[in-house]
Amino acid sequence: MSNGSDLMDRLVSLCKRRGFVFQSSEIYGGTGSVWDYGPLGVELQRNVKEAWWRAMVHERDDIEGLDAAILMHPRVWEASGHVAGFTDPLIDCRACKARFRADQIESAQCPRKPSRRPGEFEDCSLTEPRQFNLMFKTFMGPVEDSAAVIYLRPETAQGSYVNFHNVLNASRQRVPFGIAQVGKAFRNEITPGNFIFRTREFEQMEMQFFVEPGTDDEWFEYWKAKRMEWVQSLGIRAEKLRFDEHGPDELAHYAKRAFDIQYEFPFGWSEFEGIHNRTDYDLRRHQEYSGRKLEYVDPVDRNKRYIPYVIETAVGVGRVMLAALVDAYHEEEVDGEQRVVLRLHPRLAPIKVAVLPLIRKDGMPEMAERIQKEFRAAGINSFYDDAGSIGKRYRRMDEAGTPFAITVDGESMSGNTVTIRDRDTLQQERVSVDGLVEFIRKRIG
Ligand code: ATP
Repeated sequence: MSNGSDLMDRLVSLCKRRGFVFQSSEIYGGTGSVWDYGPLGVELQRNVKEAWWRAMVHERDDIEGLDAAILMHPRVWEASGHVAGFTDPLIDCRACKARFRADQIESAQCPRKPSRRPGEFEDCSLTEPRQFNLMFKTFMGPVEDSAAVIYLRPETAQGSYVNFHNVLNASRQRVPFGIAQVGKAFRNEITPGNFIFRTREFEQMEMQFFVEPGTDDEWFEYWKAKRMEWVQSLGIRAEKLRFDEHGPDELAHYAKRAFDIQYEFPFGWSEFEGIHNRTDYDLRRHQEYSGRKLEYVDPVDRNKRYIPYVIETAVGVGRVMLAALVDAYHEEEVDGEQRVVLRLHPRLAPIKVAVLPLIRKDGMPEMAERIQKEFRAAGINSFYDDAGSIGKRYRRMDEAGTPFAITVDGESMSGNTVTIRDRDTLQQERVSVDGLVEFIRKRIG
């Protein structure tokens, strides 16, 4: 049996070998906690975002999409409370210069003395905690002075709040309705790590649902259930998922109530999505700081005016990818040989189907190429491979998480049939070439 850190090491190595994830600027020694997604990683990432967008925007009539800019007016972050309050308590070790989050010190370890138990720092020279703001600062325009300071957004949500009236008027929605966004966010985390779990640049999928005050508790429960349903629809095992409620001292400055959906990663149960009741905090503050009214006026009863409450669902693309990869990673023995297989849900799989001529002659490559062309025309991501033994080619596709492999063999020529191998059951089925695209389409959802 392997422990969690072995499993993470093997997953990280698979991700590099097969082109899911590379360290950023690797040839220069890497950038701390920033990652690049390779050819398979970018497909997985697109599929995660596509599944989210479909569930949150396209399949509903009460949520609108938005893509707000990363750079926003600096007053946004004063109004939102991020300039004053988006901080973590930082502790330094004067001796070895290590840095820790004060709220995680009990589980932290002195990097110089790895034999010590977590939380043991007797003869270390730790400073008192001081507040460290997690927002990246830069300057707008050619002058680097305090008047030109601007921030990289640490969350996409504020773009939805400042556009509340724009979206409301343009879409003619009525409360309750939501605004969904997928986009980059940046946080100068003190203790990033665990591969793509906590990074300094990451992508979020956030939805702000505006509701009438007093109905917020009900909507909160609704979104909790919906989001758990969504994660499970990606094939992530239910027994590896749970809710965790934030205690009063863990609540963010804007939140009335907050639940995390946690996944049991190899390094322990950790958050990958948050569901928050942000009350009317953000809209009220923007109304105050901008001087613009951000009320909602009920179109039927025009005397009914209020600042809506917001239920937010916020999840990181990288964290969904990591949970899906961990959940899918299996090592097993097949016919006396070890195989590594990623049992990714077909909707998430970067390549849906491999097309493999058994040998490179007798018309097999030409027939395989014709089949691949059909997949291309149908918008189904496929992969043609004629290099190496068929066993090796199957193994490569198993590691890439490809759910189906089509083999063109001797019988294909005469009977116009191919075999389809199922990644998980290893069953091979002979089917007619006519209708192959529909056969695969039905199975990839
Ligand atoms: P954590 O407690 O892990 O720092 P958080 O509670 O600050 O996260 P939120 O502000 O609620 O996180 O952000 C919403 C989601 O964005 C998180 O559930 C997570 O999926 C993702 N996320 C937040 N910070 C990071 C990060 N540094 N790297 C990757 N994803 C992140």
